Amino acid sequence: MTQVAEPRVQSPRPEPSPGRVSHWIGGRLVPGGSGRHGPVYNPATGRLAREVDFASAEEIDAAVEAARAAFPAWRSTSLSKRTEILFNIRNLVHDGREEIAALLTAEHGKVPSDALGEVSRGLENLEFACGIPHLLKGAFSEQVSTGIDVYQIRQPIGVVAGITPFNFPAMVPMWMFANAIACGNTFVLKPSEKDPSASMLIAELLKEAGLPDGVFNVVHGDKVAVDRILEHPDVAAVSFVGSTPIAKYIYETGTRNGKRVQALGGAKNHMVVLPDADIDMAADAAVSAGYGSAGERCMAISVVVAVGEVADPLVDAIRSRLPKVRVGPGSDAGSEMGPLVTREHRDKVAGYLEKGAAAGAAIVADGREHSLYKDGDGFFLGVSLLDRVTPDMESYQNEIFGPVLEVVRVATYDEAVKLVNENPYGNGTAIFTRDGGAARQFQFEAQAGMVGINVPIPVPVAYYSFGGWKNSLFGDLHMYGPEGIQFYTRGKVVTARWPDPGTSQVDLGFPRTR
Ligand code: NAD
Repeated sequence: MTQVAEPRVQSPRPEPSPGRVSHWIGGRLVPGGSGRHGPVYNPATGRLAREVDFASAEEIDAAVEAARAAFPAWRSTSLSKRTEILFNIRNLVHDGREEIAALLTAEHGKVPSDALGEVSRGLENLEFACGIPHLLKGAFSEQVSTGIDVYQIRQPIGVVAGITPFNFPAMVPMWMFANAIACGNTFVLKPSEKDPSASMLIAELLKEAGLPDGVFNVVHGDKVAVDRILEHPDVAAVSFVGSTPIAKYIYETGTRNGKRVQALGGAKNHMVVLPDADIDMAADAAVSAGYGSAGERCMAISVVVAVGEVADPLVDAIRSRLPKVRVGPGSDAGSEMGPLVTREHRDKVAGYLEKGAAAGAAIVADGREHSLYKDGDGFFLGVSLLDRVTPDMESYQNEIFGPVLEVVRVATYDEAVKLVNENPYGNGTAIFTRDGGAARQFQFEAQAGMVGINVPIPVPVAYYSFGGWKNSLFGDLHMYGPEGIQFYTRGKVVTARWPDPGTSQVDLGFPRTR
């Protein structure tokens, strides 16, 4: 095992300006020069916390140039040295997890236990990437023909970019850059402009860990920044996570410009509960997975599909748990669910309650009655439950992305599967049952990239890969894990011989192996 080196930079980290989030290019803070910026709120108080600079096309060019310039040396850096730096990064992120989590709570609003969970799932990806010498092993075939060997190697692709969503400001960047840089690429991150500070802290930790300047860059911004990334001739690949319309746009524009693209989109995850399921276990799971992180998870359960006679007791069991969910700011130790990310998003989510009720759904719990919704300045909405939802309703057809759990009642297992499979999204789905045969059949026929069996949020561990089907992913390869390594490398096959002098001859025939 490679010995872990002392982190290279021992000096204090550059102090970020409290009022402004700037770019990180070539290993240092670069204040934005475009004159454009956006607001970053503290969602728990509703107050403006700071501004974030929005990059111009020229600033994106500067970040890509820094990454391009760093690429030749980084791709030539030995695997053992890269591993040593990745170990350092892993340790610094681990040691800094409370600091990172605090930034997530401050800007996203998720409560500390949830924020620490996010950092911990991100760490898994760094740990996976520490195995890069093993992961990059190629293949070798000796004597494919007389005196001829063939071998395959995987090489980095160059400058790669990551464009990430607001709901996992630390974990999703780690899904991408851990493997990308481990494979020898250099990276430009464009994080969500709603909660940009965690990525800046991570950039500083990477530098402290000894990552050479320019290997990891962060540029903030909006469509102007993203569009320049998508058309920049020196960006070889783009990883995206966000909403479906933007994912589709990123995929279409990026591939039209000749880039390799993986674009993960939105979700509407169904949890099917069969009549034989343990009601308490299913209700606990539905509440945890429906309202954790205020429903702002791409793997949140947003629809409970109650099959047959399970519906009434299940809805009762979920309803009885809701008053106990403690909604409040992350600064209160007892809070289990924080605010939504912006006022605009909170109001949009709340609007689905009105729309659902108008369309005939029953409001079993109404988050608009929560005191923090009615009187607070933060972007809170209490836990909400809509029963008797049908597929024609607007609330069912859209990704709500908030603490509004919907229940669709169906008569049979077949109807439940049909619902899952006809939904345009296919990120995750889950089944709750005590019948192994039914669970196996569900795993066989569910059209989704990730399936849980009595597990409501089946996010794969870092040594598998993460990705949905249908409108939840545009592209071929899933993110992180083995498919991440494939995405960030390209194969090269070498055919070699070392003949003795005087043994060659002219032969215009197509090379044969026999
Ligand atoms: P979003 O699509 O609004 O933004 C994602 C990124 O795209 C951000 O960096 C943003 O700045 C950029 N962007 C936004 N509008 C753009 C435009 N018009 N042109 C170019 N770039 C643009 O998503 P969000 O609101 O930040 O995140 C929530 C969404 O992400 C939800 O739909 C959620 O399901 C999805 N998500 C999916 C996964 C997954 O793995 N499938 C994981 C997390 C989040």
